[in-house]
Amino acid sequence: MKKEITLAIIKPNATEKKATGKIIDMILEAGFEIKAMKMLHLTKKEAEGFYEVHKDKPFFNDLTDFMSSGPIVVMALEKENAVEDYRKLIGATNPAEAAEGTVRKLFGENIERNAVHGSDSPENGIKEVGYFFSNLEFVN
Ligand code: ADP
Ligand code: MG
Repeated sequence: MKKEITLAIIKPNATEKKATGKIIDMILEAGFEIKAMKMLHLTKKEAEGFYEVHKDKPFFNDLTDFMSSGPIVVMALEKENAVEDYRKLIGATNPAEAAEGTVRKLFGENIERNAVHGSDSPENGIKEVGYFFSNLEFVN
């Protein structure tokens, strides 16, 4: 199977509770290769740019406030079937509905503060990685 790229974000509620290392460990243990990684604190505008597809949703304003409220860690992850496998590792959007042992079950607080982001398709994986990383920031 062909290798895919997906974007992972450790969200502000998870960096705040010092879960960054544990989440990165789960990602590595699950067989993902980290091709690029950095920590940053988004402005409201940068968070709005990233979540543009959700701009008409009722939760858009709260979500972008939350995502710009503290440091995040963004990663480009590579693996066969990366998009689907990573979404399996993190669990359902709502931590209350996420399977036991998933990242969102372990570290999410509610449907908004759900600890991590994952791309929803290989096309969006490439697009979202491009929002945060330049070619120079990739390891080969
Ligand atoms: P996912 O992150 O699982 O792909 P979505 O793309 O639907 O989920 O939503 C993007 C992010 O918006 C979610 O991860 C979550 O932080 C937030 N969100 C989604 N649905 C809601 C909701 N009903 N209320 C508040 N926040 C939400
Ligand atoms: Mg999504």
